[in-house]
Amino acid sequence: MSAVTIDSTRCKGCELCCRVCPQGVLRVAKQINTKGYFPAEVGDGTLCMGCCMCAVVCPDVAIEVRVHGVHYDFLGQ
Ligand code: SF4
Ligand code: SF4
Repeated sequence: MSAVTIDSTRCKGCELCCRVCPQGVLRVAKQINTKGYFPAEVGDGTLCMGCCMCAVVCPDVAIEVRVHGVHYDFLGQ
């Protein structure tokens, strides 16, 4: 069981995560965030297989992935 979440306040809408996701889980939201960008959002989260590619590619560290409850932290914080 895996789960992906996006901190929309950190997102700058570059869409890298949407393009890299092999499952098509992520998409661009229809509403802007507080920075004035259209942020990424989670579509059908049940399709997420926990590969973490989205979190690795995100330049703003806005994505969090948990696999079987384990949080993968790419900054080591
Ligand atoms: S962890 Fe993998 S499958 Fe899940 S949303 Fe991110 S890129 Fe897609
Ligand atoms: S890669 Fe990060 S900054 Fe770019 S759209 Fe996805 S969540 Fe937003």
